Amino acid sequence: MNQHAWVIVAGGRGTRMSASVTKQYRLLTSEPILTHSIRALLNAQPHSLVQIVIHPDDVNLYTKALTYLSEAHQAQILPFVEGGSTRQLSVRHGLLALASHLGPKSTVGIHDAARPFVTPALISALLEALSTSDGCVPVLPLTDSLKLVNEKGAVIGYAQREKFRRVQTPQVFHYQLITKAHELAFEQGQTELTDDAAVAGLTHLSITTCAGDERNIKITTEDDLIMAHQFLAQTCTDIRTGQGYDVHALGVGDHVWLGGVRIPHTQGLIGHSDADVLLHALTDAIYGALADGDIGSHFPPSDPQWKGASSDIFLRHAMQSVRERGGYVAHLDGTLVCEEPKIGPHRQAMRERIADITGLALDRIAVKATTSERLGFTGRKEGIAAYALATIRLPEAQ
Ligand code: MG
Repeated sequence: MNQHAWVIVAGGRGTRMSASVTKQYRLLTSEPILTHSIRALLNAQPHSLVQIVIHPDDVNLYTKALTYLSEAHQAQILPFVEGGSTRQLSVRHGLLALASHLGPKSTVGIHDAARPFVTPALISALLEALSTSDGCVPVLPLTDSLKLVNEKGAVIGYAQREKFRRVQTPQVFHYQLITKAHELAFEQGQTELTDDAAVAGLTHLSITTCAGDERNIKITTEDDLIMAHQFLAQTCTDIRTGQGYDVHALGVGDHVWLGGVRIPHTQGLIGHSDADVLLHALTDAIYGALADGDIGSHFPPSDPQWKGASSDIFLRHAMQSVRERGGYVAHLDGTLVCEEPKIGPHRQAMRERIADITGLALDRIAVKATTSERLGFTGRKEGIAAYALATIRLPEAQ
């Protein structure tokens, strides 16, 4: 029972970003910032429990965010709890929800959902400090000078910056001690403390510091989001292109599946799964970029469980393989070759469906179509072919 747990605070409404989606659910590559944050914590501490505190309006966004995690990571996540009216109250909800899961000597880390770049090295340093302290917080020195100003902005004093630090999360504590401190704060009617080290001060816990990480940024503004993309691009410098190609025969039927969209047609595509040539070609393109076999080696046609399968399963698996390698898909480009049905009227629906399956932004998904001028098997309407390219970025090999 004595183990480590994380409370991730994702209940904020984030008014500093212009977009309608709350910041922790904004996309960073093909998944929400929250998903990156959870994965970073669980990659560092695979057996820890995760308790996420969310806003009740965000249940759908939250549920979707978890689908991008591996099954092993999903298994470590407890059912969400709803946040309170302040960050401090939200943390308290998370801590109380953990009570039945943790033993008396358990430790807990409290983390902002919008800090996706926490590293295993930082987490190790924090947890190591708990052998001699009640809590530990990551801090950074200030490089700018500090001034005290009045409400009109006039300088009325200064502070010695050497004496101050900027504080990050995660902040780690012995579970029972920080929970007691939160209960005391609650009983005293204090609800506005902005971090847990401040709450810990109420019960005079011994809190030490360790060196924070300049990359462990909290994504709060649009500029932060741009910087976060740049961090990922700087990490993922191994840029690869993969190719995919697929054909299915046309036969008896009244619809075809193309790009994840059901299109009424005078014939159907014949195949073991739903025979969606475009999704198959895109999937193979990603496997190609990973140099990781092909769709047939991951989903053998001899296996009856893939009979009639919806092909989004294959594309999701390929995307997940890229994520688990620490990389991301930068671009997908597919071309359908057929005389009929006409693809143009369905192009946008296909792009939107592929965006939904992959999590990618629409401007990173191309769907094109051509006929083969009535030549060959596609020209004779005997089958439909699809070509695809995937550009992916992976971390440089160690
Ligand atoms: Mg196929």
